Amino acid sequence: MKTIGNTLIRFFTLALIWGVFTSTTIAATAQQPGSEDDVEWYAIADNVYQLRYEHYYTIFVVTDKGAIAFDPLSDDAAEHYVHAIKAASPGKPLLAIIYSHRHTDHATGANVLRREFGDDVPIIAHERTLAYLKELADEDIPLPTHTVSDKGEVLHYGDTDIELRYIGYGHTDTMLVARLPKQRMVYAVDFASRDSVGWREMPGWPLDELIAMQRRLLKLDFDKVAFGHGRAGPGDRETIKRQILYYENLLVQARAAISDGLSEDETVIRTALNLPQYRGWGNYNKWFRLNVRGAYRWVQEHELNQTR
Ligand SMILES: [Zn+2]
Repeated sequence: MKTIGNTLIRFFTLALIWGVFTSTTIAATAQQPGSEDDVEWYAIADNVYQLRYEHYYTIFVVTDKGAIAFDPLSDDAAEHYVHAIKAASPGKPLLAIIYSHRHTDHATGANVLRREFGDDVPIIAHERTLAYLKELADEDIPLPTHTVSDKGEVLHYGDTDIELRYIGYGHTDTMLVARLPKQRMVYAVDFASRDSVGWREMPGWPLDELIAMQRRLLKLDFDKVAFGHGRAGPGDRETIKRQILYYENLLVQARAAISDGLSEDETVIRTALNLPQYRGWGNYNKWFRLNVRGAYRWVQEHELNQTR
């Protein structure tokens, strides 16, 4: 009897846990062994969902009138994006697609969304994104139909506002930061990531402006940040402060090494010893040393030439 009782209790406990889990969580993972797809999506705030496709993230927002998609990432990612949007916002239209910035590894895929939700779904982007994509003339990337200037714009979708802000040229001069006042969340792509180092040698990155832009982000009113790269899930204001400190640390180390007469290779070795706190960060093994080289070259090029 005792065994049966325990078994029954276990069964009901499991059933209860399963019931709670399935009723409160709308999310999905598609990760089969041998499959090319590495995708998942999950809620990160009220009516805001994050979709991860390989090492990329995008978000979508569900309102009472329909959904708003952001960067579709690629045609393949957008197929998964369609499923996620339809599951979280069943039977409702897609009201808009918003490109965060002009880079094609985030902006590709809108054709797939439009195929499913209608060819007339508006595409919104910064006006310089339109100019760039016009020039690029890539048929896989449909052009924005509505543009936003440096002044920014507040879009209204039923019960939800989406504020698009231009806060600097730290990562192209086309970046729109989206702020969701109701969810107290911002969507920040590429100019900051969640506890991850920068990309390779940070080629062409204006590091002073990158840090200034991260500081401007902190002036906005928000609690949570959804990123385009880095650790999964949303970050918060502390995540942005850690990004600022990381890039500042790289520059401090580069300046000191150059003034001590160290070569680039010597600077890599010393900086890796001096900044052990980043060893657990995303892409550390892949790119941290390249980041040090990038910072070294940036200081040489942009700070030393000015004082000579
Ligand atoms: Zn980019």
